[in-house]
Parts: sequence; C-alpha cells; structure tokens
Amino acid sequence: MNKDLDCLFCKIVAGEIPCCKVHEDDVSLAFMDIGPLGEGHVLLIPKSHFFTLDEMSADVAAGVLSNLPALVKAVVSAVGCEGVNVLQNNGSIAGQLVPHVHFHIIPRYAGDEFHFNWPAGSYAEGQMDSLAAKIRENL
Ligand code: AMP
Ligand code: ZN
Repeated sequence: MNKDLDCLFCKIVAGEIPCCKVHEDDVSLAFMDIGPLGEGHVLLIPKSHFFTLDEMSADVAAGVLSNLPALVKAVVSAVGCEGVNVLQNNGSIAGQLVPHVHFHIIPRYAGDEFHFNWPAGSYAEGQMDSLAAKIRENL
C-alpha cells in the first residue's frame, strides 16, 4: 500500500490522527469531514496514497467507488437531505487542499450556502468533435 509520511489522510488511515469513521474495507475508508459543507458531509478515500485520481489503477478506483451508492443512500437516510453532490477535486487549481484522493459526499438542503459557479461555455463549429477525437486518442 502506498503511504506518504507527510500526508494527513495517510496518517488518518494509519490511525495516527483520529477520524470519525463511517466505513472501512480493504481498499477504502469513509469518515466525517471536519469542515462540513452540510450536516452529514462524508469523505471517501482510498487507503493507499494517490495525489490525484489519474494515479489510481482502475481496480483500486473501482473498489473505492463501489462504496458510493451505499454511502450516498446512508447519508440521505441519516440526515434527511434533499439531494447530494459528489465532488472530487484534482490539483490545487481545482480546489484540492489535501493531496490524497478523496470524494466528498455533500448533503444538500434547501436554502443551503453551497453554490457552484458554473460558467457553461460553447464550442465553435467542429471544435467539440476534434477535442473528443483527441481525448479518445489519449485513452
Ligand atoms: P479538498 O479541498 O477537496 O482537498 O478537501 C479537503 C477536505 O478535508 C475539507 O473538506 C476539509 O474539511 C477536510 N479535512 C481536513 N482535515 C480533516 C480531518 N482531520 N478530518 C476530516 N476531514 C478533514
Ligand atoms: Zn496520503
């Protein structure tokens, strides 16, 4: 299992820093976020250290993400929220503060303070197709 000695979430996995645990299995740990964006905010992480999602193998990612449906269902049942955002920030430009992959499960309530700035753009003629081709080439 990869471990980074300076990583906060690796220390949580190792039990060196306490967490409020929700779920644990061979590859994953889920615990309460100490700075909740909504009551019931949970973090789901791989136990192994990866900075960003693209560093993970498909197998490990599948193992970790297999917990998402049950966790979302459990959070909704427990807190009675009206919706949930699942958010995963990759890199500081994307808002990642802790350098260990984590999925935020964020309960949403009517009138809550969590807002996205979602500046949807548009493509010039043919641009979307050429970008899609480039992405396919890189898969
Ligand atoms: P991000 O900005 O995506 O890297 O999110 C990091 C998250 O980790 C934030 O929501 C923090 O509230 C949360 N966090 C930081 N330290 C701890 C900790 N010791 N236990 C639980 N959650 C934490
Ligand atoms: Zn780590």
